[in-house]
Order: sequence, then C-alpha cells, then structure tokens
Amino acid sequence: MGTYDTGKPGPTIAFMCEYDALPEIGHGCGHNLIAAIGVAAGEALKEVIDEYGGKVLVVGTPAEENFGGKVSMAEAGVFDEVDVALMVHPGNENGVGARSSALMPLKFEFFGKSAHAAIPYDGISALDAAAMSFVQINLLRQYIKPHTSIHGIIKDGGEAANVIPDYASLEYYFRAPTMSYAKEVSEKATEMVKGISEANGTRVEVSEYECPYEDTVINYKLANLLTEKYQALGVEEIRPVNEVAAGSTDVGAVSYKCPTIQGNIKIVPDNIGAHTKELADATISKEGEKGLVHAATGIALVALDLLENPELLEEVKAEQEKTLAKLS
Ligand SMILES: [Zn+2]
Repeated sequence: MGTYDTGKPGPTIAFMCEYDALPEIGHGCGHNLIAAIGVAAGEALKEVIDEYGGKVLVVGTPAEENFGGKVSMAEAGVFDEVDVALMVHPGNENGVGARSSALMPLKFEFFGKSAHAAIPYDGISALDAAAMSFVQINLLRQYIKPHTSIHGIIKDGGEAANVIPDYASLEYYFRAPTMSYAKEVSEKATEMVKGISEANGTRVEVSEYECPYEDTVINYKLANLLTEKYQALGVEEIRPVNEVAAGSTDVGAVSYKCPTIQGNIKIVPDNIGAHTKELADATISKEGEKGLVHAATGIALVALDLLENPELLEEVKAEQEKTLAKLS
C-alpha cells in the first residue's frame, strides 16, 4: 500500500490496483491496466492534495481471480478509515459500475463406513448421503427468490464400485443479490443436508471452502460523478450502472466498508470478451493506453471534486449509510 498523508485533516481517498493474470492467457482480464490506472490516479491526486488536506492511498489488492485479496484486506481493516475507494476495470464497454452477486461457497463432507460392496450391510455409504443431498438441494431451487442460483458438484464419490465409500463430498456456490439472502439459502441447504446425513447414519462436516464474496453496494452519487468526468474527457457511450449481476467480485467486500466504485473503460470491440488473448493484447496497445489515461483521469477528477466540495462527499456518504441500513 502506498500512502501520501498531507498531515492536515481531510478525507482518505483510496485507489485500488489489481494485478493478477490468468494461466496461459496472461492479462486477459486487464488487471495490469487496473494497476497502472490506480498508480496514475494516485500520483495525480498526490500533486494537488496538499491544498486541501487528507490522505491518498494506492492499495494493491492481489488475487482477484480466485482468493479475493480484497476480502481479507477488508477484514484486516485496510478500508476502515477510507472515505471513498475508486477503481476502473478495462473491457468492452465504458461504464460506471455494476451489481455483482454475493457468493457463499460451501463444502459438505460425509463420513460413513467402508465395506466390501458384496457385503454392503457392514458399511454405511457416504455417497448415498451425498447423492440424496444433491437431489434435495435441487428440490430447494423451486423455493428460492429470483436472481439467486445454486450450483454444485459431487467432488468425491468413492474410488471403486466394489467398495462402499466411507467418504464423499459436495462443493456448492450459493449466489444471491445480497449476502444475507445467500446465507439464508445456504443455511436452508445445510439444515436439509444434516437431516439427510442423520437419516443415512453418516456424519457430515460443513465448511466454507473458498472465500465468500459479498454483493457490490452501488453508490449512485459516485456513479454520476464518474459519468460527468467521463463526459468531460470525451468518453462516449457510457453505460449507466448495470443492475443485473453477471458474476461475483471481491470489490463487494470493499463496498460494504466505504462508498466504492468500479467503473469500466472500453479497450476492445463489443465482440471481445473478458479472459481472452485479444483483451490481453489490447492492454498494451494504443487503445489500452488511451483507456488507461481516460480511466485514471476520470477517477482522479472524481477524487478532486470530493476534495474541492466536501458537501459532495457528505452526499456520497449519506447515500451509503442509507443503502447499508436497507440491506441489514
Ligand atoms: Zn478482472
């Protein structure tokens, strides 16, 4: 984390950097650009913040693709004193943020008793409990609210057909528009699995096998500010906040700690998706460089506006408080 402290009272503005790449593809998610955008915006704000007071942070947030660096950093208190966190993700459109799904990853492990499958009455099949749980969780789908999804696999189901398996496991993602609902659904599933395990005479252990991701809290005031700055810079076709979640991100964890924006900047044509070689190539092209300058300038100008007009920052924070109160 890079910090510049004016030593004078004022807001703390954080620019977030990502930098992890993908196997084989390289920077197919453009996190190398996110790093450059954050550093550039931080440097720019550092040049002027002495006039106003406050602090600039450039926060390196590793491993967005799988372990959710921002989640553990948020838990460790990195964003507790931050007033606003800003970042921009490159891709195939210009935008001012999007919702993301909360994700609760649960693993169910069943422990039974192995036996030769020709004398199955000496054993207790962990796989039977897993298979019944898999079916029961499928039945649960009828009762869940819209935009919520359950996807799971049988991770372990035994090694040989002539052995009653004493161990089986299921891995699930429970995704929902809010963390509280993702937890509610995953708790329902857990209760069902416990009942099934008992009925089968197995023992079950339930654990979070990956990092849970919170949904992203949208701050429309911040989104409007970035829209204004993008327009002033000549950025065209700016998509408003995308209200339909298309996945999950560790930015969600930060958005519960402070008003946060993850904007978007277009560096590839519409038909090129994320996690592609084409996007990786674009990050080091002329288009990538243009996107870098627009995105870094855009979020630096948002930060400057908040420093120059403390009442704007108050509005951003008031909206955040109101939204969080509704979610809890
Ligand atoms: Zn990404």
